[in-house]
Amino acid sequence: MNKPRILVVEDESGIADTIVYALVSDGFEPVPCGSAHEAITHFQVSPPALAILDVGLPDMNGFELFRRLQDVPGGRDVPMLFLTARSSEIDRVVGLELGADDYIGKPFSPRELVARVRTILRRSQRMASGARENQVLAPLNQVPENTEKKVNSIQHPFLLDEQRRLIRYHGQALELSRYEYGLLSTLIQRPGRVFTRDELLERVWDDPGDSFDRTVDAHIKTLRAKLRAVRDTEDPIRTLRGVGYALREA
Ligand code: CA
Repeated sequence: MNKPRILVVEDESGIADTIVYALVSDGFEPVPCGSAHEAITHFQVSPPALAILDVGLPDMNGFELFRRLQDVPGGRDVPMLFLTARSSEIDRVVGLELGADDYIGKPFSPRELVARVRTILRRSQRMASGARENQVLAPLNQVPENTEKKVNSIQHPFLLDEQRRLIRYHGQALELSRYEYGLLSTLIQRPGRVFTRDELLERVWDDPGDSFDRTVDAHIKTLRAKLRAVRDTEDPIRTLRGVGYALREA
């Protein structure tokens, strides 16, 4: 079996060596990169199973690198884990303006880092297979709970293609992070149904204990911005203050 390839983007060789050693011992195939440009080249050749990005890199900060990697074909499907030394950086990652998967604060224990890598990989594999199961169990026009309103895929502005993990809005394919996709696909399968933040965390995040209510809010915010970019006169997601979110019924 192929070992999962993990890109380790870290310019401090002492830290990089520690991470590489921990990953090798745990059955991964780490690829160390000392700069952001090197990481981009690796992504272009073949996106890894996961990437660990140091925020403080010599040629570009980790956030900028994250954005650049998302633009590489296949890059959006790669889970990314930030390494960060400052709490102000942690705030940015937790706010998840970026949609990154996780972060780990320096100093960290190599064991903790490897455990986190495992969790993220398991979660992303489960998401991929979960999407296939949903395709069988709940196609768009066959919502199983008949008390809830069915989505009319013709009149509805949203079209969900779970096999391709694609959502169209007014005919336009949306570029969504994995959590934005998870949230929106949950909402559009039950228009009008109110989901609490906890329910959304349960359904969309596989490790809800690691996340917070404001993580949901932050992703809804970026999601709304993407929907507004397609149709700025509409706001299809309703906020129920102190409760949660729902898709507006047409
Ligand atoms: Ca650094």
